[in-house]
Amino acid sequence: MDLNQRHLNGERLRNDFEELALIGTTPSGGVTRLALSLEDLEARAWFANRIEEAGLFVHDDDVGNLSGIYSSKTPNAPTLILGSHLDTVPNGGLYDGSIGVLAGLECLRTLHEAQIDLPFHLEVMNFTDEEGTWFSLLGSRGLTGTLPQNELRHVDVRDGAFRAALLRSGIELERVHLAARERADIIGYLELHIEQSTHLEKTGSQIGIVRDIVGRNTSKFIFRGSSGHSGTTERANRRDALQGAALFVTQAHQMVQSNFDGGLVNCGNLSVLPGRFNMIPSQVDLLVECRHRDENTLAAIENALLQLAEDCASSHRLALDHRRVEHIPAAHMDETLVNTIQQVCDALEIHCLDVVSYSGHDAQVMQNFTPTGMIFVPCVNGISHSPAEYSHWEHIELGANVLFHTVMKLAATYSR
Ligand SMILES: [Zn+2]
Repeated sequence: MDLNQRHLNGERLRNDFEELALIGTTPSGGVTRLALSLEDLEARAWFANRIEEAGLFVHDDDVGNLSGIYSSKTPNAPTLILGSHLDTVPNGGLYDGSIGVLAGLECLRTLHEAQIDLPFHLEVMNFTDEEGTWFSLLGSRGLTGTLPQNELRHVDVRDGAFRAALLRSGIELERVHLAARERADIIGYLELHIEQSTHLEKTGSQIGIVRDIVGRNTSKFIFRGSSGHSGTTERANRRDALQGAALFVTQAHQMVQSNFDGGLVNCGNLSVLPGRFNMIPSQVDLLVECRHRDENTLAAIENALLQLAEDCASSHRLALDHRRVEHIPAAHMDETLVNTIQQVCDALEIHCLDVVSYSGHDAQVMQNFTPTGMIFVPCVNGISHSPAEYSHWEHIELGANVLFHTVMKLAATYSR
């Protein structure tokens, strides 16, 4: 089949998009479908109905991932997974996650309708809790067998609510490990997603081909001084934890910006003790996050931040504690898939751009498990996780067609 001849049914895709947008609608025009909430379950039921209606197999697993399968006639064929997530952040946008799942479904339907037999099964997946309402990337971590069982049992103070959500969704913590798939059965993962940034828009690109997803370190810095009367303590005797922390916050941004190209730091929260008008702050807990596409540079940023914090602490005669909270390694997309997507864009005469993703995705987890590729579509002003999130429909339809043609091209060149 000529690559340029067949396209997805854009109208059906749009109908799906509009129907799904009605589930969990908020007054400000966004959607709230927190993972495993009633709205999320309603979206899953809706998705299962669409899969069934299309004559595809509905599949679910022990961590709540819900998928549709278009089966190959080849015996013992492996599986290519397409997907993203239907869950959202509170009052989130209509596009984040949903377009990847819906475009994947439309790929399966188009192939099924045209009775095109593939050398692999094609599976469209809705991953559980990508947004981390309970446990970030729960579904993809479950599927790849990388869920830390112990952490799951102690999710935090909301543990009771988490268990209730699991019960409501029919997920048993004792069984989530059974969702792990065999590496040998999966030949790749493709995800279509909105960019959530402005590189495509600024360069007039229609499609982004993701090269890397940034790694991310989060840590807690604790500045310790001593408390005292804010009026009577002499200047020379003050050990004000907040002054040290504030100095660090203002210098950290400047330092990362000037020394680490492509690096980002965020100081997300300060808690100040004792926190009164008339007492000198004795302790400040500061949440710090940094991101970079390269693991070595990320480690260098973290070290430089630590050194800076020590300098700021000592300039105010403070003690400093540093605790790493989480490290999510940088992820790199598969070279063959990147090239395939590039060839598809060339054949369809699409302006595309290599991009780095500064936000996390299921693709980040999947790339450790199977060759992974990611396609971005522009979103207006880079706004995401907000009711104001918006992508032009022609970009979404184009992105969905790039996904479709990438699948077709992989099928044409596939050999075991
Ligand atoms: Zn997303």
